[in-house]
Amino acid sequence: MTPRGWAVLTLGGLVLALLVASIVLVPWGRPPAPRADQVAALGELPVDQVAHAREFRSALRPGAYGALVVGLLVALLLGLTPLGARLVELAGRPFGGHWTARAVLGGLAVVLLADLLTLPFAAWRQSVLTRYGLSTHGWSGWAVDLLKSYVVSAVIGAIALLGFYTVTRLAPRWWWAFGAAGAAGLVVLLSFVLPVLVEPVFNRFTPMEPGPLRTELMAMAARDGVPVRDVLVADASRRTKAVNAYVSGLGPTRRVVVYDTLLREATPAEVTSVVAHELGHAKDRDVWTGTLTGALGAALAVVALYLLGSWGPLLRLAGVDSVAEPRAFPLLIALVTVAGLVAAPAQALVSRRVEARADAHALALTGDPATFEAMQRRLAGVNLADPDPPRWEYLWSASHPSTVERMAAARAYAREAGR
Ligand SMILES: [Zn+2]
Repeated sequence: MTPRGWAVLTLGGLVLALLVASIVLVPWGRPPAPRADQVAALGELPVDQVAHAREFRSALRPGAYGALVVGLLVALLLGLTPLGARLVELAGRPFGGHWTARAVLGGLAVVLLADLLTLPFAAWRQSVLTRYGLSTHGWSGWAVDLLKSYVVSAVIGAIALLGFYTVTRLAPRWWWAFGAAGAAGLVVLLSFVLPVLVEPVFNRFTPMEPGPLRTELMAMAARDGVPVRDVLVADASRRTKAVNAYVSGLGPTRRVVVYDTLLREATPAEVTSVVAHELGHAKDRDVWTGTLTGALGAALAVVALYLLGSWGPLLRLAGVDSVAEPRAFPLLIALVTVAGLVAAPAQALVSRRVEARADAHALALTGDPATFEAMQRRLAGVNLADPDPPRWEYLWSASHPSTVERMAAARAYAREAGR
């Protein structure tokens, strides 16, 4: 069998594995809370709070969709015309067009150009956040964060680009196989190291101060059978007023993180409710699930790019001879951008199901639906979330169930539990 035949077979295997993983690992069987409960919950929220949140979300929209459209157009323009290949050549020229210069500097130039062209939209977003009082760090803090994220992306990007184009040179016929394994490995590696290498670039993390709340949280984790070494507090308040919590990392790097804003804004019982949700993610191994599906998806993308990239008309549009050369990197970015847009609703759907399971876990663990609901109201109030967003936007991008869905879930739990 030819390498191409093996690639087709591998692609089929990966699609199957991804499907099986999604069927087995994603909690599909949990019906959303009844719409009647959601409507009732919405009716109980203060009218002016809902109106204010919707006004804020509308103000964000032009920037968000502008960035999406411009990002897509730039990717298509660079990838499906010879312009992108020329940009890569240009970036490599000071180094005599050496392949490593083209691979790393050319690749980074393509990404940086797209970032710069969408920069006005990021600034728009920041101006809206400031106007509505959610952002606290001002334009200089914003710029520093932006530069930090460019540097982090450039470091990870340079490693990935150099690795990828070394493999395409060493194994011109089988690079897709090594590339797929490498991409999957990189996803797993990043899951491990992000909390210890990347997150500290943006925030300071300190163990939660000893006291009744910490004691309560550690006792709850023990009761839940989830070994947690510590609950960390992130100094999010230097950037935002928004409240949040999350789990990240795998094995030795796993941690539960709460924003200092949450500790400031919410009651201890509400913080407990939030941490119970995060323990749900830990207990159901949601970071593992995300890492595994991410790794399969990355491997699948590499093999699909190899197969698509041998399609003559596409190569002619991009003005390149082979998809494996650094000059074809803009074409890869164009294909990945389109695939990302197509996959977004599916990713959001999976995320909402996983989040709903963590909510159910929090309700069962705390047995306190009233506090859970109060916390959801507070989250929506402080974060200016639309409690019942437009359907299309929800389906397209919502990573969590809506506020009214979460409130309704608490009411359904209370009914069942007879509380
Ligand atoms: Zn969650």
